[in-house]
Amino acid sequence: MQQFQQYIGGGFSDGSARFDSADPATGIAWAQMPEARRDDVNAAVAAAKAAFFSPEWAGMTASERGKRIARMADLVAENAQKLAELETRDTGKIIRETSAQIAYVAEYYRYYAGLADKIEGAHLPIDKPDMEVWLRREPVGVVAAVVPWNSQLFLSAVKIGPALAAGCTVVLKASEEGPAPLLEFARIFDQAGFPPGVLNIVTGFGPECGAVLSSHPDVDHVAFTGGPETARHIVRNSAENLASTSLELGGKSPFIVFADADLESAVNAQVSGIFAASGQSCVAGSRLVIQDSIFDAFLARLKEKAEAIVIGRPDDMATEVGPLCTKAQVDRAADLVARSCAAGARVVTGGTPRGGNGYYFPPTILDCSDAPQAPCLTEEFFGPVLSVVQFSSEAEAVTLANNTAYGLASGVFTKDLTRAHRMIRNIKAGIVWVNTYRAVSPIAPFGGHGLSGHGREGGLQAALDYTRVKAVWLRTSDDPIPDPFVMR
Ligand code: NAD
Repeated sequence: MQQFQQYIGGGFSDGSARFDSADPATGIAWAQMPEARRDDVNAAVAAAKAAFFSPEWAGMTASERGKRIARMADLVAENAQKLAELETRDTGKIIRETSAQIAYVAEYYRYYAGLADKIEGAHLPIDKPDMEVWLRREPVGVVAAVVPWNSQLFLSAVKIGPALAAGCTVVLKASEEGPAPLLEFARIFDQAGFPPGVLNIVTGFGPECGAVLSSHPDVDHVAFTGGPETARHIVRNSAENLASTSLELGGKSPFIVFADADLESAVNAQVSGIFAASGQSCVAGSRLVIQDSIFDAFLARLKEKAEAIVIGRPDDMATEVGPLCTKAQVDRAADLVARSCAAGARVVTGGTPRGGNGYYFPPTILDCSDAPQAPCLTEEFFGPVLSVVQFSSEAEAVTLANNTAYGLASGVFTKDLTRAHRMIRNIKAGIVWVNTYRAVSPIAPFGGHGLSGHGREGGLQAALDYTRVKAVWLRTSDDPIPDPFVMR
């Protein structure tokens, strides 16, 4: 079995315990991972804290920080294929997707390398003639970054990039499911020339590792991506250290198609919007909201496309949909479909696990036209299950789109420009894609509200979120300050 190590204070170690990681394509253990417990987490936070105050890091100019991040970007690009293969092996995400995504991860680091020396303070036109007042933007301190198993290299880059650009230090907790790519990334990061302790990477389980990290007294900010239930733990944990939090959570994103849309484009975007990454994507367009006049034709074309998807081994370039990450995910999918059918949903295609080796669940479409209470319309399910409802008027489309406690992403397909603008205004979500879906860039902020969390990743704002403002007052008068206790 392949062996992986954790990365603390610039050194590699085995962790307090070890655990096996299974290949989702076969269900067979292929590697052993370091399990971080309290002592490891304490050591990682201590290393990050020491690095934060060290002259090597605290005294480094912002331009120099940027150069190191740029070096890291180059290293990620050079090692992209190896990282992609490891992510595919350990999480089951197909190689087509991991190769493209990790090559693009390097661009996120490049973007934040460029931003490092552009995080500026401000001068205030203060209302006192003998004072100069300005604001310094300073790093928040030690950041705990906690990520889920899907797209771990990407979800860490959107935290590590802006945090290091701002001058913070980081303890990253990789998910216990599929941590191999992040533990390998530690070896790549180690070559980029940062002082020891600036980034520490551990993995382990929620209560023993994630909870200890997010409640640690020396952690100043917790950047979390995961599910809403875990986010509630994170917020409760942060009651201990009163750290600030940013929460990137799940979604139940509407994908709205009007009758005037380019239907073939909409079908293709919907297929990738829900079935890419086997549906294990926070922005998955998991609720198709479709105009009644094109309902039958659109659904028929969608079914045809879904059934033509090539399901196979994740490491095969021909595969379009691979396994889910864990057996528990397959069981949850089957349960969601069963409960939704009991509430009146109709299976258009898919619906039952493939059986045999590996954690496979086929692309599934559920027609919920007669099942407005079906759980698949409200519960985030992190898998290849699409729920479909229909509308007749634009107002009804908006009501259906906003009928969710989440607020992450949304898609609108229409050729009517004025309607597109009304929909953009009326949809409650952090992202609206019009006549496209799933587009991302380091330059654009990403995030949601409601059960989808708060805070944004990507863009300039994300780097500012890793800073705090210090107000500086400087008296410019040489006149002596009068003794306030001498009566005149
Ligand atoms: P999860 O919430 O179960 O786990 C996420 C991380 O939290 C893991 O590293 C886990 O070990 C850790 N954790 C668990 N319990 C903890 C605790 N008590 N304290 C601290 N940390 C703890 O999520 P998951 O099942 O791995 O991933 C799927 C979820 O992630 C979905 O809801 C999905 O929508 C969400 N997600 C969101 C985004 C986004 O950017 N908005 C991106 C990807 C995934």
